[in-house]
Amino acid sequence: MELLKVLEEYQNSERLAMITGEKKITYNQLWEQSDKLAAYIKSTCGQDKSPVIVYGHKDPLMLVAFLACVKSGRAYVPIDINVPRSRIENIIDSVCPKLILVTEKFTQYKEYPCVNIVRDASIFEISANRDSDCRISSLDYVKEEDVYYIIFTSGSTGNPKGVQITYGALNRFTEWALNLGYGGIKNHKHQCFINQAPFSFDLSVMDLYMSLASESCLFALEKQVQMDYKKLFEQLKKSNANVWVSTPSFADLCLADLSFSKNLLPNMELFLFCGEILTNKTVEQLLHRFPKAQIYNTYGPTESTVAVTEICVDEEINERYNPLPVGVAKPGTRIKILDGDRELPEGEKGEIVIIGNTVSKGYFKNEKENQRAFFSYVIDGKPTPAYRTGDKGYFQDGWLFYCGRIDLQIKLHGYRMELEDVEKNLMKVEGITKAVVVPVYEEEKVKYLKAFCIYEKEFENSHKLQKKIKEEMSEFVPEYMIPRKITFVEEIPMTANGKADRRRIQEMN
Ligand code: AMP
Repeated sequence: MELLKVLEEYQNSERLAMITGEKKITYNQLWEQSDKLAAYIKSTCGQDKSPVIVYGHKDPLMLVAFLACVKSGRAYVPIDINVPRSRIENIIDSVCPKLILVTEKFTQYKEYPCVNIVRDASIFEISANRDSDCRISSLDYVKEEDVYYIIFTSGSTGNPKGVQITYGALNRFTEWALNLGYGGIKNHKHQCFINQAPFSFDLSVMDLYMSLASESCLFALEKQVQMDYKKLFEQLKKSNANVWVSTPSFADLCLADLSFSKNLLPNMELFLFCGEILTNKTVEQLLHRFPKAQIYNTYGPTESTVAVTEICVDEEINERYNPLPVGVAKPGTRIKILDGDRELPEGEKGEIVIIGNTVSKGYFKNEKENQRAFFSYVIDGKPTPAYRTGDKGYFQDGWLFYCGRIDLQIKLHGYRMELEDVEKNLMKVEGITKAVVVPVYEEEKVKYLKAFCIYEKEFENSHKLQKKIKEEMSEFVPEYMIPRKITFVEEIPMTANGKADRRRIQEMN
């Protein structure tokens, strides 16, 4: 499947491609406006292939911007409004874009040119000539090996890492994902997909491209809607969606309200989960409240295009396994459990390594991390791209099982972060000379973060100081990375080889 060719086929379609609140866009408008914006990008940025940053939230014009970047031969770098300014500046400095497209309020940074495509509609009034130039060349311009998007994720250095995903990888992922559920979405076009994740998280790639490739409608839930039960349930009802894509945490949040059931969403037939542990309890509740729906657990990192394994979890699987399996690898992917370079047999726990045709080209301008995480593995005599996930896992009954991390990466409410990233940013706060952050677990999932800090200045009130630190931290990291509890200590327990003793710290109050 070639995504842009498929979208070209829908170019005259009056069907809705996306709805966000009162804003809507049809397939026809999406195609035409992205053609025009692509011509604009080409004329301003010239012929090179430097990436374009797209800043905003869930405005349908975000899709126009993504497609326009790609049609102009450039990767897009989505940044959501949740990302704090200093992190955005960090990403901009590493990308050095020739253009930043925005759909929300944005203050220009350094000399980087920035265009608000909601306000500056004149961009879409580009001459017909240029328009057709772009239209003819754009589709041939995007090659399999070209980078289609770059998504920045948390990095242990305190700076985010940009994962580059090619057009070929995205096509192969989408083609596979379209086979999930009731004989495959591809046989049932014109669905309505719920979009929960912001576009700067790769989970959104699943709903966005499955939806676009099947001429379906993406029904986006904005941040402020997700934070308000009343608005959220009104929107869900209005959507009448039949495909759900979210983290299990978001489904749990909805399940907390008893009205989240088939009465609210009578046509719901497919729940697709990825990004964190799917628990038996979540599945049990969903099967009970949506008896006609299928539930899929999928697994994978941003570094291998969203997801690489799948399993449909029915009542039988849910009763037989705890924890639940994450499934079998998609075609074109092999999964190995390695201990160093040694492959482990079924049943033994080791690092999950993904080998195959959706593995990323590597992190953007980050040779050191690339050397650590990406390598080549010979499969059937052919060197194939491989990625060390840092996830622990094992095979049983032919299924892959996930059982935690071998490093300090965690998931909190579906958000990926490195604990060292949180610590480095905590230490940016004046007065903090050392910080160690540990996750607090409840029912096998991380519930919140707890920080232990050495604060070298005098302070009177620990509560006030905690508040001040949290406020300062919010300048550097998104809200979900701010520890809920901060404890001030005189010293941090160390191991014999001079590292913070996380096991002992974990037990401290
Ligand atoms: P992200 O790059 O944000 O998608 O995060 C990828 C990480 O999320 C993986 O390396 C795993 O640690 C975790 N993850 C993804 N899918 C699952 C799953 N189905 N069950 C448990 N953990 C998962």
